[in-house]
Amino acid sequence: MPKPEWLSDPEQLRAPWRQKGTALVEGQDDAVALWLSAQERAGLDIVCDGEQRRRHYIWGFIEHLGSVDFENPAKKKSRGQRYSEETAAPRVLEEWSWTEPVLLDALRFAKARTNRPVKVTLPGPMTVSDSVYDEVGGRSDADFAAAYATLLNKEARSLSAAGADVIQIDEPCFNIYTDEVKDWGMEMLEKSFDGVSAKRAVHICYGYGTEVVLKWKNANTDWSHYDATLPLIADSSIDQISIETAASGVDLSVLDCLDGKDVMVGVIDVGTEEVEPAQVVANRIRHAMEHVSAEHLIACTDCGMVPRSRRSAEGKMNALAAGAALVNRELGA
Ligand code: ZN
Repeated sequence: MPKPEWLSDPEQLRAPWRQKGTALVEGQDDAVALWLSAQERAGLDIVCDGEQRRRHYIWGFIEHLGSVDFENPAKKKSRGQRYSEETAAPRVLEEWSWTEPVLLDALRFAKARTNRPVKVTLPGPMTVSDSVYDEVGGRSDADFAAAYATLLNKEARSLSAAGADVIQIDEPCFNIYTDEVKDWGMEMLEKSFDGVSAKRAVHICYGYGTEVVLKWKNANTDWSHYDATLPLIADSSIDQISIETAASGVDLSVLDCLDGKDVMVGVIDVGTEEVEPAQVVANRIRHAMEHVSAEHLIACTDCGMVPRSRRSAEGKMNALAAGAALVNRELGA
């Protein structure tokens, strides 16, 4: 969810906080409460804290694992150079370690304020490995990801034990490095979830609805990435898979292989300010039901809505719930 304007610059990824000290903590608490109540009001069945305590979905977690230099980033060829030749990557200055849960207090805060199932999201090993510059050095991306997956697993286990209903690992890079997903990405994902009793979810999208990403999507013609990755997930311990379908050119028949898994189908385009009518959302759900059985279909957004205005994000969330309600009525649910 986007941050309220009093907390940080709106509609921007990685925007700096506008508050500090106690005001920042109180501001984050208030923003979480605001989005929890908006999700409930819209009628969402599974809620989250809106990631209001993180400037960015990767940064907000890794900054607690050891020294990371965000101020003097290195240039790196990341995301398969899909969006740009080089990207600014935070420098990992020392070997990371996990000493205590990073998101435990945030989970407890959210659980104390809602009776609905709560989801927590964590950045995945392949995506983190691709997003940082490893100053420690002397290891491959796979080795870096393996070391990180060990720490991530400790976090996932502690959140699961504390009552997180769904733990979602975000791996957008699974839609880029399909060979590496097969070689080591899936293994690291499984390692991250080892011993976790909460629902295990993975989010694989084509990126946030930002200008550079939209430019790539508009020019892209190859949408075969899920064809390579989803059969591997079908054979894994993952319970739920979050897929982008609203804004991509993905042929939904690719979902056929996920029989028996829960599929979070993206039926909201997060790259536009315009709010889809509920009927459009319902049509997207009906289309997905040709490939996913109703009891395994969870209507969802394509990705996060950080770059959207609050008004648009709230409207899209309401449209999501209203579209799902239309279909549920037809099903007699
Ligand atoms: Zn995403």
